[in-house]
Amino acid sequence: MTYPGPVREQPLAIELHNTLYAADGEPLDGLADERGLRAWLGAVRGRLPAEARGADPRRLADVRRLRDAVREVLHAATEQRPPRPSAVRAVNDASRRCPSSPQLGAARGGGMRAAIDHHGADATDIALGAFAVDAIDLVTGARRGDLGRCGAPGCVLMFLRDHPRRAWCSSACGNRARQARHYRRTHP
Ligand SMILES: [Zn+2]
Repeated sequence: MTYPGPVREQPLAIELHNTLYAADGEPLDGLADERGLRAWLGAVRGRLPAEARGADPRRLADVRRLRDAVREVLHAATEQRPPRPSAVRAVNDASRRCPSSPQLGAARGGGMRAAIDHHGADATDIALGAFAVDAIDLVTGARRGDLGRCGAPGCVLMFLRDHPRRAWCSSACGNRARQARHYRRTHP
């Protein structure tokens, strides 16, 4: 199965947020079942640590619990309010379950290279940790002011602004919003 929802080269925490989306005004959950989770993990796989690739779709409940927490934390950031403590705990737990450290290794050609070693965490915990760490980075890092929620009618997605006036998650949403505005102007 190909993942049917939006995956748009956004930071991982935003991709997780955006697994709740809408199509034709109907709310949809990309992680409604294990099949959906498997397909979605496949869609973001290239951006997860290599050790997360065996992540187990049967851990659906854990992924959905972290999604709730990540959504609350991202929304709190855009609303400039403190997040619910239970959400903070859930994000921190997921991060703590996959400790990691950089390791120095040999590169081909005689140089050196860095790799990240995850200590004893299983593939699913490594995936959950990657989403949690990304959420922490997003809401505390230099780009926290660039977090945006799409302003198009009916859209529930978030995005990271690549220019200060961006108000839509996609050009399709921008067009829809402009059409809606035009319709309102011409049909008073
Ligand atoms: Zn949108």
